Amino acid sequence: MLAEDFIRQEAFINGCWVYSHDKKTFPVTNPATGVLLSEVACCDVKELAFAIKSAQAAQHLWSQKTAYERADTLLEIYYKLIERQDPLAKLLTQEQGKPLAEAKGEILFAASFFRWFAEEARRSYGEVIPTTKTDCRYITVKKPIGVCAAITPWNFPIGMLARKIAPALAAGCSIIVKPAEQTPLTALAFAQIIDDLKIMPGLVNIVTTDAETAPIIGEKLCVSPEIRLISFTGSTNVGKGLYRHSAENVKKLALELGGNAPFLVFEDADIPIAVQGLINSRFRNAGQTCVSANRIFVHQTIHDAFVETLVTAIKQQLKLGNGLEAGITMGPLIDQQAVEKVKSLVEDALQKGATLASDKKVFNSATGLFYPPIVLTGITPAMKIHDEEIFGPVISIIEFSNEEAVIAQANDTQSGLAAYAYTKDIKRISRLSDQLEYGMVGINYSALSTAEIPFGGVKESGLGREGGRQGLEEYQEIQYLCLGV
Ligand code: NAP
Repeated sequence: MLAEDFIRQEAFINGCWVYSHDKKTFPVTNPATGVLLSEVACCDVKELAFAIKSAQAAQHLWSQKTAYERADTLLEIYYKLIERQDPLAKLLTQEQGKPLAEAKGEILFAASFFRWFAEEARRSYGEVIPTTKTDCRYITVKKPIGVCAAITPWNFPIGMLARKIAPALAAGCSIIVKPAEQTPLTALAFAQIIDDLKIMPGLVNIVTTDAETAPIIGEKLCVSPEIRLISFTGSTNVGKGLYRHSAENVKKLALELGGNAPFLVFEDADIPIAVQGLINSRFRNAGQTCVSANRIFVHQTIHDAFVETLVTAIKQQLKLGNGLEAGITMGPLIDQQAVEKVKSLVEDALQKGATLASDKKVFNSATGLFYPPIVLTGITPAMKIHDEEIFGPVISIIEFSNEEAVIAQANDTQSGLAAYAYTKDIKRISRLSDQLEYGMVGINYSALSTAEIPFGGVKESGLGREGGRQGLEEYQEIQYLCLGV
């Protein structure tokens, strides 16, 4: 099958392909070329109400399936994703812009959650707790939390979707997903798999909307008592709003929010390994990832050698262009707003005394959404780029001389998602693990995310964990059973 075969216009609710009641649509375009890919249904609260009703009915039936039956369904989805990896990757590149190899990696990443949670579903044990009395037994069982909702971002359109749908289904929950305005097509291609496998109607619903309608859908999900969990990945501000709206009916929230990752390179680091780790972390998805290295602290004794190696490696490795073309390793940013944000952070830093240590080749394109990879040195706290999540292909370097002070600087943020450090000193590694206030820490390694690990942050980076054993527990409630004997 071809990528084009998966391009849809309708949302997917109760196992049916539906338009919005008023036939309203929104355009989805290729950020590399500006070509219109599809006009997609802009659902509102009417379609959402239908989705909630359908998900409730499916929830009732699905929760009665055995863990074995649920695991079988997850494995069927896993194999279908593997079978369709090529056309789905092409579609993902077309709507999101990332290079084809990265898009393929994301499809396999998404598939891996279905395999992992199929296996976890079968090992989700309760407990028998020793009693203080002879006439009863204390037992706990894990039950599905109920109907769930997921709101997902554009940067990993199917990775984030899979990280929520797979554990929900494994736990025995139905789910309603609202994908981002820019990238609903991969989500709908996933729905095509659900449809083709004839999976229970209402179990997985994809409700597509534009950005104007998203807050209305978000608030409705928060205040609807039928929805027992909202899992959101996106910006910290939107996450805080959902948290506020959900207080009314004490709804459980799982929040994966923004990051501001420090990347510490100590004087004993292996420079080529640290440079490669930084390139992989900062330039994957053109820097538009929440765990991307954002503030790069380099020890003053190796600063110049590090910058030189980095600038050379960028020249050799990064080729900007349309992600569908061979040899391209970095695509466009998602939209004009993203380009303007990166531009203004860089201009502010340069005006306040930062140095451009790399070339900045202008890249002309039909959309104007390409921003070249660059390195800035001499970053100070007076510059906006020092504290903000860049979300673009810019490396901003800060020199340091003292371990204690740099750890304090690394922790001096309300974000707490991921941190990285490069050093060979085992005692220092132990100190870093103790002192870094982050949900995830990479030591001499920058590729953190897989299905097997508990992904998530502390402070304002979120609540809960996705993936790992813990990822299933987000979708479960514990019931204690006191059994008289
Ligand atoms: P965003 O604006 O918060 O959008 C994310 C999702 O929320 C989209 O589906 C969006 O829909 C929807 N949305 C927007 N406003 C809403 C509202 N008021 N109520 C309900 N839903 C609403 O975030 P983004 O700019 O697309 O994504 C980038 C952010 O996500 C970055 O800060 C990044 O760090 C974070 N992120 C975090 C993780 C993690 O795991 N921690 C992973 C990836 C990204 P529309 O598209 O229709 O507006």
